[in-house]
Amino acid sequence: MTHCGHDAIMRPTPCRVWGDKMAIHDFTSQRLFVDASLAAEAQVPCSPEQHHYLIKVLRLNTGAAVLVFNGRDGEWRARIGTVTKRGAVLIVEEQTRQQTAGPDIDYLFAPLKHARLDYMVQKVTEMGVRRLRPVLTRRTIAERVNLDRMRANVIEAAEQCGILRVPEVLEPQKLAHVLDRWDAARTLIFCDEAAAVVNPIAALAQVAKGPLAVLIGPEGGFADDERTAILAQTATRTVSLGPRILRADTAAVAALAVINAVVGEEY
Ligand code: SAM
Repeated sequence: MTHCGHDAIMRPTPCRVWGDKMAIHDFTSQRLFVDASLAAEAQVPCSPEQHHYLIKVLRLNTGAAVLVFNGRDGEWRARIGTVTKRGAVLIVEEQTRQQTAGPDIDYLFAPLKHARLDYMVQKVTEMGVRRLRPVLTRRTIAERVNLDRMRANVIEAAEQCGILRVPEVLEPQKLAHVLDRWDAARTLIFCDEAAAVVNPIAALAQVAKGPLAVLIGPEGGFADDERTAILAQTATRTVSLGPRILRADTAAVAALAVINAVVGEEY
């Protein structure tokens, strides 16, 4: 195993699992998430929204090819079958990619308001997290979290970015409750603007291989006693993302980009 550190910045040594693999998915075909099980010759009815999008917006018709995935059975090529005014059926043909597990990274975050929450949910999905776990902190502004809206954003981002696994969205929980039940085997990467500014790549290279979680705080930051409780966890590793105070949605993307670069995209 090669660690990435200062040396790795000077000399492009590969990190844990970065190799010379290229993205192999088809970026040009329309991708749709479906709930139904996928297998050759399966017939999958489009939802009303999918029907509207494929037939009315994209003006596709019977015989047009699309890609479908459900987060369990990999990705499949399908063709639009019978189209009526109200519906359409997709006929599944052949598998284009097998299901993969993806990195085991939980994303813990204090919910933000509307547009910024939408943005953050879409971006962390694109960055490959496994689960989204909203945590309620003392300074969390958005107390009511619209999980359906979050799930819709996750699906839209998953369709767009080519991933096969669709991140799970968990019910919000209080930060204290989450910390009380923390699994010590899951390293908790605490993004802390008050931490000493050291190179995050060097800091993350010290993190043991295994399940991870990333914690980003609310717009108002964590209260002092919350920071103390986070730092008291044996699984916590503190990371600075530089000398500037980033907005929570910016911090999410920055943290996951660095983590993916160091830990690798699959492990
Ligand atoms: N404490 C500030 C305040 O009073 O508004 C800022 C909180 S910041 C907007 C929201 C979250 O982004 C923080 O809780 C932290 O998790 C993350 N964050 C922002 N800048 C960061 C940095 N330079 N290093 C690490 N994490 C950062």
